[in-house]
Amino acid sequence: MAIHVSYLSPAELLESVGSVVYNANLRASQAGAEASLAAEDYVHLIEAWDKRCAYCNHALVTVLLEHMLPIARGGSSALDNVAPSCDSCNVRKGNQTPVEWLSPSRYGEFEARLETSRVRYSLLAGGYPVAVSIQYSVGY
Ligand SMILES: [Zn+2]
Repeated sequence: MAIHVSYLSPAELLESVGSVVYNANLRASQAGAEASLAAEDYVHLIEAWDKRCAYCNHALVTVLLEHMLPIARGGSSALDNVAPSCDSCNVRKGNQTPVEWLSPSRYGEFEARLETSRVRYSLLAGGYPVAVSIQYSVGY
């Protein structure tokens, strides 16, 4: 049975993200895409999203790794393309981009939370790769 992500300490979170980060990097590198995510980065990212799903904002129950731009569509396993999501959103979004999948109002909310998560990530991780914060745009 899964342990609710909210109850995990940073050390437990690090232990539980290892395999999802490994698999995400493996899938990206097999597709010829950047595969640079570190488990520590993903722990900070989950915390930066307040341990909530990037899309529906519900508290995370399990640790998943969501590629905002799907690997099948050219997405990478780099910090600027990944986010935590719940199982339901991960399955329902499939190979769509956020702007394709979410309604315009929900996309606006998602974008605002994405910006907040990047500010919080910088604070947690002591910096954000320079190119990343302005790279993600609406127009995939
Ligand atoms: Zn969700």
